[in-house]
Formats: sequence, C-alpha cells, structure tokens
Amino acid sequence: MKCSYCSEEIERGTGFAYVRKIGTVRYFCTKRCYRLNVIYNRKPNKKEMKG
Ligand SMILES: [Zn+2]
Repeated sequence: MKCSYCSEEIERGTGFAYVRKIGTVRYFCTKRCYRLNVIYNRKPNKKEMKG
C-alpha cells in the first residue's frame, strides 16, 4: 500500500493506519505524514506551479 499523504510505498508491518468514523481507512508511512494530513489537515503533496 502507499502512504495517503506522500505516496511512498509502505512496507508491511510498518506505518500507521487511521480509521475515520465514517469507515474509510488511511495509511501513512510515518507519524509525520499522519500528523500533517490528519491533525493539521494538510492536503497531499502536489507539485505547485510558481507564480
Ligand atoms: Zn508518507
């Protein structure tokens, strides 16, 4: 599976799973990605155009 935030591949037995009340599950490679996406509600990394 891949990290829901940074799309890095997550090895089995590692990473964090976050289950929302509505039943969807998100997987994160590190707690950092978990915090950024869940706690701070950041959107997944995307290349942004300057200007
Ligand atoms: Zn990640």
